[in-house]
Amino acid sequence: MDEDFKKAAEFHGHICPGLAMGYRVAKYAKEHYPRAMDEELVCIAENKSCSVDAVQSLLGCTAGKGNLIIEDNGKQVFIFYSRDANRALRIYFKGDVFRGMDALRQKMASGAITGTEEKEMKGLRAKVIEDILNGKDEDLLSVTDADIPAPEKARIYPSLICQKCSERFMEIMGRTANGKVLCKDCFEKMVC
Ligand SMILES: [Zn+2]
Ligand SMILES: [Zn+2]
Repeated sequence: MDEDFKKAAEFHGHICPGLAMGYRVAKYAKEHYPRAMDEELVCIAENKSCSVDAVQSLLGCTAGKGNLIIEDNGKQVFIFYSRDANRALRIYFKGDVFRGMDALRQKMASGAITGTEEKEMKGLRAKVIEDILNGKDEDLLSVTDADIPAPEKARIYPSLICQKCSERFMEIMGRTANGKVLCKDCFEKMVC
């Protein structure tokens, strides 16, 4: 097993088709862009599934650093923006790897799967993961240049104290109600 995939699996907690998909996407990006030391590489992920964890592990685009932006369209699309190169790469995982598995996957998710089906599913899953890991880039990925504006940099905002819970929060997230400054949480929990 490739060292990067091993690391991604450790980070993610299990091996699954989604992780393998993200791994192929991230590996491609890694070969074309250097790993983000700070935040020069920004990833815009159009899903919040297992694949995103491979991107975080391989490329250092993470939620905490602000260089991972989730715009959930439920698509296996990742846009990588390089602040150094000032250009973006859009990668769509086009490989139809789950062909014929949809019914089983739905049964599995709803818990209506039988023992025999579960066995069949396990076999199919292993085969899918293998196909993803061993497939050719051109069969699995659709890569194009993307013309997008530079994503906003993570910014530091001053803090305010919420006049209800007394906890500190980022100023830009503040709300006002009845002349009081509130954190978003208190504002949303306020009974009107
Ligand atoms: Zn997973
Ligand atoms: Zn509050």
